[in-house]
Amino acid sequence: MQFHKYDVVIVGAGGAGMRAAIESGQRARTAVLTKLYPTRSHTGAAQGGMCAALANVEEDNWEWHTFDTIKGGDYLVDQDAAEIMAKEAIDAVLDLEKMGLPFNRTPEGKIDQRRFGGHTRDHGKAAVRRACYAADRTGHMILQTLYQNCVKHGTEFFNEFYVLDLVLTPDENGNPAASGVVAYELATGELHVFQAKSIVFATGGAGKIFKTTSNAHTLTGDGLGIIFRKGLPLEDMEFFQFHPTGLAGLGILISEAVRGEGGILRNADGERFMERYAPTIKDLAPRDIVARSMVQEVLQGRGCGPNKDYVVLDVTHIPEETLNAKLPDIMEFSRTYLGVDPVTEPVPVFPTCHYVMGGIPTNIHGEALRDNENVIPGLYAAGEVACVSVHGSNRLGTNSLLDINVFGRRAGIAAAEYALAHEHIELPENPTKVVEDQLALLLSEHGDERVADIRTELQRTMDSHASVYRTEDTLKQALTDVQALKERYSRITVSDKGKRYNTDVLEAVELGFLLELAEVLVVGALARKESRGGHAREDYPNRDDTNFMRHTMAYKEGEGLTADVRLDYKPVTFTRYEPMERKY
Ligand SMILES: Cc1cc2nc3c(=O)[nH]c(=O)nc-3n(C[C@H](O)[C@H](O)[C@H](O)COP(=O)(O)OP(=O)(O)OC[C@H]3O[C@@H](n4cnc5c(N)ncnc54)[C@H](O)[C@@H]3O)c2cc1C
Repeated sequence: MQFHKYDVVIVGAGGAGMRAAIESGQRARTAVLTKLYPTRSHTGAAQGGMCAALANVEEDNWEWHTFDTIKGGDYLVDQDAAEIMAKEAIDAVLDLEKMGLPFNRTPEGKIDQRRFGGHTRDHGKAAVRRACYAADRTGHMILQTLYQNCVKHGTEFFNEFYVLDLVLTPDENGNPAASGVVAYELATGELHVFQAKSIVFATGGAGKIFKTTSNAHTLTGDGLGIIFRKGLPLEDMEFFQFHPTGLAGLGILISEAVRGEGGILRNADGERFMERYAPTIKDLAPRDIVARSMVQEVLQGRGCGPNKDYVVLDVTHIPEETLNAKLPDIMEFSRTYLGVDPVTEPVPVFPTCHYVMGGIPTNIHGEALRDNENVIPGLYAAGEVACVSVHGSNRLGTNSLLDINVFGRRAGIAAAEYALAHEHIELPENPTKVVEDQLALLLSEHGDERVADIRTELQRTMDSHASVYRTEDTLKQALTDVQALKERYSRITVSDKGKRYNTDVLEAVELGFLLELAEVLVVGALARKESRGGHAREDYPNRDDTNFMRHTMAYKEGEGLTADVRLDYKPVTFTRYEPMERKY
C-alpha cells in the first residue's frame, strides 16, 4: 500500500473535476484522481452547447434563464441554486473564452448562440438563442481547454486510479468527517491511500444502469455508490433524463442542437406531432415532454419503420452547408451507425437514457450533506454526481455544461479554503480494509456467475420497466429483478486473478454500484406516486404538489447487498416562483 498526503483531493477529471482543480490548485496542494485519462471523460462527448444569457444575438437576461430552469425542472428545482447558476453563467462562459475556448462566432466576432429546448424569451413567449457552442463539439472543447489550463497550473494528476472508497473519521459527536480516499491503480493493482483535508467528488453520471443510453461505458455511478454505501444520502435518484433523440435501436446521441438549428420530429404520417403537445415552442419543448410525446406517438400506432417503433428527425429542409458547418459530428454519426444521410433522409430516433438529475445532496458551496441540514466536514461534490438541485426533475439541455463550470468552480474554491483553515484529521486504523475485503471476495472462487450476464439482465429489465413510462407493476417487476440480480452478484467470480490491468475485477466492482443504484432508483420511483419531469407514472399521470413537492433522500439501511433502501424527504427551496401548470 502506498500513502499520499494532500490538502485537497479531487476525484474525477471531467469538466467539474478539472474546473474545481483550476481553482483549488492555485490555492492549496491538490491532487486529481481519475479512472480515465482526463481527456477521455464523458464531458468530451457533449455536443450541443453551454447556455448563458449573454444576449449576444437577441434580447435575454439571467432572470429569464432562472425561470426557464425552474419551470423546465417541473418546480422541483431549488430556486436559490438556479438563480446563482443563471447569474454566474455569464462569467463561466467568459472565463472559458479567456482560457482559450474556440467558440463559434457571429459575423461581428461575438460568441454565437443558438436555440435549445426549454430556453425561452420572457417566460415562455418564444424560443431564445442562449446556447454558446463550438460546432457540435462543445464538450470536447471545454474538456481540452480545462485540461490545458490544469497543465499550465501544474495540476498533479493520478490517471487510471480508481477510487473505490471514501474514508470517513467520526468527530467527537460521532458524526462523519472526510479524511481520505482509497484508490486502486490499474497498472499495478496496488492500493493507494490519499489523506486529505478536503475531498471533491466529481465522478459523473450512472447512465449504464440502462441498456439504451447515450452515456459512455465508464458512467457506472462509482461516486454515488461509494457515498450510498457509507450510509450517506442520495437525493432524487428516481429522476433520470431520457433524451428524445438517440439513434433508434442504438441510443447514440443526436444533439438537441439539431432541433435548435431547425430540425423537426415527424411521425409515420409525416406529421410534425410536437405542434399538438407543445403548440408554442413545439420541437424545442423540454426533453421530458418531447420524450413522452414520442413514446405516445409510437404507442398510438404512428411510429415509423417496419416495427413502427421510432419517429424521425427531419433536417432535409436545412441547407447542407449549415448542417456541415454547425452539426458535422451528428451528420457523421447518422451515416456511420445507421447508414442514413440526413441531407436527403430523415433520421430514425427514439429516447435514450442520458442524465441523472439526482445525486449527492450539496448546498450552493458544493458542500455534501449527511442529512437535510448538516454538512459532512471536508466533503464536496460537483457536476453530474451532485444534486444542488439546479435541475429538479428535468434538466434543460446545455444546463449541465454550465452546472459543471459554475459549481465545479465553487466547490474547488470552497474545498481549498476549508483545507487552508483546517488541519488533517487522523485516518482510522486500517483505512484500506473495506476495499481489500471487497476485492478478495470478487477474486476468490465462490460461484460461477459472470459480470456480463448480470449487467445485461440489469440493463434489460431497467429498459423495459423503469424508463420513460413507469407503473406500479413495472416498477415492482424491476425491483424483484434487481434484487434477484444482487443475490446472483454475491456469487460472481472474476476469472482474471492478475494484478496488472485487471479491468475484469474493476468491471465487477462497477456492476456492484450499478445494481445498488438501480434499486435506489426503483424504490424512489415506486414511492413517488405522481408524474413530474423525468419520472412519468402511467398510473399517476398528474403532478401532485400537495404530496410530492419535495426531494427524495435515499439512505442505505443494513450491510452488504441485502441492505434496504430507506426513504426520507427534504423540502424544495423557493425564492420567487410559484409552481404553475407547465405549458409550452
Ligand atoms: C453524448 C452526450 C452529450 C451531451 N451533450 C451535452 C450538451 O451539449 N450540453 C450540456 O450541458 N450537457 C451535455 N451532456 C451532459 C454533460 O456532458 C455531462 O452531464 C457532464 O459533462 C458531466 O461532467 P462531470 O464532470 O460531472 O462528469 P464526467 O465528464 O463524466 O467525468 C467524470 C470523471 O470521473 C472520473 N471517475 C469516475 N469514477 C471514478 C472512480 N471510481 N475513481 C476515479 N475517477 C472516477 C472519470 O475518470 C472522469 O474523469 C451530454 C452528455 C452526453 C453523454
